[in-house]
Amino acid sequence: MFAAGGPEAVAVQEGRIAGVGSARDARGWTGAGTRVLELEGRTVLPGFQDAHLHPAHGGLAATQCYLFDADSREACLDAVARYAAEHPELEWIEGGGWSIDSFAGGTPSRGDLDAVVPDRPVFLDNRDGHGGWVNSRALELAGVTAETLDPPDGRVERKPSGEPQGTLHEGAMDLVRRLLPPISQEKWEAAILRAQEELHALGITAWQDAAVTADTYPAYLELAERGALTMRMEGNLLWERGADDGQLEELVARRDAGSAGRLRLRGAKIFVDGVLENFTGAVLEPYVGTDNAGLSMHDPDELAELVTALDARGFQVHMHTIGDRAVREALDATEAASRANGTRDRRFHLAHVQLVHPDDLPRFAELGVAANVSPYWACRSDYVTVLTEPFIGPERSARMYPFGSLLRAGAPLAFGSDWTVSTPNPLLEIEVAVTRAPTDDRGAEPLLPDEALDLPTALETFTAGSAWVNFLDDETGTIEPGKLADLVVLDRNVLDPGTGPIGDANVLLTLVEGEAVYAAPELGW
Ligand SMILES: [Zn+2]
Repeated sequence: MFAAGGPEAVAVQEGRIAGVGSARDARGWTGAGTRVLELEGRTVLPGFQDAHLHPAHGGLAATQCYLFDADSREACLDAVARYAAEHPELEWIEGGGWSIDSFAGGTPSRGDLDAVVPDRPVFLDNRDGHGGWVNSRALELAGVTAETLDPPDGRVERKPSGEPQGTLHEGAMDLVRRLLPPISQEKWEAAILRAQEELHALGITAWQDAAVTADTYPAYLELAERGALTMRMEGNLLWERGADDGQLEELVARRDAGSAGRLRLRGAKIFVDGVLENFTGAVLEPYVGTDNAGLSMHDPDELAELVTALDARGFQVHMHTIGDRAVREALDATEAASRANGTRDRRFHLAHVQLVHPDDLPRFAELGVAANVSPYWACRSDYVTVLTEPFIGPERSARMYPFGSLLRAGAPLAFGSDWTVSTPNPLLEIEVAVTRAPTDDRGAEPLLPDEALDLPTALETFTAGSAWVNFLDDETGTIEPGKLADLVVLDRNVLDPGTGPIGDANVLLTLVEGEAVYAAPELGW
């Protein structure tokens, strides 16, 4: 599909691809209403489809205390102090984007925050969403003390005295988060539009919001109904842990009312585990030197029941799975659902898939489950070398982010950035999938080069692969006459190795059904 060079020209008519061919072919494309993209050494690709991200939260983060650019403890504290000073009107200081590798042990302290914001409560999400950083005022308002027990789905980081230290892991974040002032629907709408603009500029034409909540749902529906949603949106309704039995009927009702314009709600999202860096990722063997094997958010039998029930109601189930036990439990649950409910075109998908036991590799193909992987993480960053490898040991470290093995085992593959956890830029993500080295340290030792994908495969994964998971493969994901003209034009021939790393390429034009949703000034359309 991505033969060297690719097409030299593409014709677009009434929102669809009308012709694909050479510059010479293009001279014949003169029908009324036909527009022709002449590539002249640039690359045209199907629009990228991000199969797992958090766009509403990404857009919102930009309006709050924004720590995604802060790469050290000092930089975080400076940013918090600055934001608090600029916003004396706010009752709560809210935001996020700090990274665990900026703090000793991965756990920022309340004492640090107290020094810059002593009077008002502060709640700051970790950039991976699996931890919260709070100050003493927030803990005091929430009544969290040495006596407070850990919730079943999380953990309060503590000082030796038992006093809360300032980091709340997983479900323990809710001890404080429940006190945050609500965000208005208008604010959510603005956040989604901001994210949409940013992502169209990166060549993205479809996205799968991994967790549509009761808060973001009405904002999406409003935008879709008034035609403001130019992105093709596949939404997953988040299964909230610990909510009562009425939840299934609620999700069914929301889904059935929630398709309009380019908005489709088809998925249900379940967290099966946490992440390895804080030992909440569910692993088959305990973390090195401990008897802790992580956290299954649901008992495996309950998970199988839940997945079977969601499947029976027609949901596409999307499961967060990091550790090899989580992957196995999710595959077991899928198997149980198909045994109970029979064959159907399910396209269930497991997100992230950091560790897979070799016995489970062939099960993706057997069960028709996609590995919806996060390519940007597959390199020797501090997350891998400092915060993960020492705690999972060499055997498991030798099978991290097994994209190549999954591909060879026939697993359907898709890419999801998990933005805001990491960059939403598909070109940078594709570069890491191919080189297995960080884009800001290109000469670094690659992480398990046998697990790399070649460039055509990586491009296909971010287009056709994700389109399959999005149930959009009939209409998008490849450049063929008759398909919708959802396209992206890059400023160079990225398949020519002489043009340098693909992460350095720039998007010139993004089309959705032939309409420019992003156009760099130098390419008129
Ligand atoms: Zn996610």
